[in-house]
Formats: sequence, C-alpha cells, structure tokens
Amino acid sequence: MAAPSARRGFSLPEDCIFCKIVRGDAPANIVNRAEGFVAIEDIAPKADVHLLVIPERHIETFRDVGELSESEAKRMLDFVAETARKAGLDEYRLMIFVGAGAGQTVFHLHWHILGGVIHGMPR
Ligand code: AMP
Ligand code: ZN
Repeated sequence: MAAPSARRGFSLPEDCIFCKIVRGDAPANIVNRAEGFVAIEDIAPKADVHLLVIPERHIETFRDVGELSESEAKRMLDFVAETARKAGLDEYRLMIFVGAGAGQTVFHLHWHILGGVIHGMPR
C-alpha cells in the first residue's frame, strides 16, 4: 500500500484511539452500542450534548464509506438516529469532517451528534 500523504491523515488500527476504545483498551463513556457500532461522549464537548458514533471496523474517513456493506451502512444510519433518540434529542446536528484539510483529526470514521447549544466547531 502506498504511504498516505500527511494532508490526507492516517492511522493504523493498533495506534488508533477509536479502535482502542472499541477494544476496551482506552476509556470512554459509552452511551449506545449495537453489533458493529458504538457511540461515546466526545472527550471535549462542543455542544450541550456531543456524541460520536463510531463503526467498530477501522475505516479512515467517510470517503471510504463504501468499505461498509449496504446492510452495514443502513444499520449505521439507523444507529445514528437511535443514539440521538436515546440521548433525548429530537432536534440535532450531524457532522462529519472528511480529511485533515476539512478538520478531521481522528482518522477513524465517526459522526458527530450535536444537540442543544453549540459552543464551537468540533476539532
Ligand atoms: P474530528 O475533528 O471529526 O476528527 O473529531 C474528533 C473528535 O474526537 C473531537 O471532537 C475530539 O474531541 C474527539 N476525541 C478525541 N479523542 C477522544 C477520546 N479519547 N474520547 C472521546 N472523544 C475523543
Ligand atoms: Zn480505528
């Protein structure tokens, strides 16, 4: 595999903080879990409610969302909606930063769920 550019960002599953959380090797406040997906509280919340939805499989970026099967992709969307509902959110924002230039800092696909008052841009 060609070495990825710094601009694109890169992490191996062994070093990836979200893979560590999925494996239970790093702490996190887990708020929802389903087969293949986990939702946690963001460590540096930028809104009254700031959750992250993470596929257990290491996919670097939304650009590579095609690595999920059709049924996994559908279940991921359902899981995002379920996580927001379980958090008591009826109205909320969903965000995904795609690539370092767009503000992605953790190179393992994740959705931001932002509810209530937003205090800043997730980074
Ligand atoms: P992004 O800019 O989309 O890559 O966002 C990464 C998000 O992950 C940021 O909002 C961080 O605050 C959050 N984050 C980083 N490390 C952790 C962690 N160990 N537990 C929970 N959230 C984290
Ligand atoms: Zn990972």
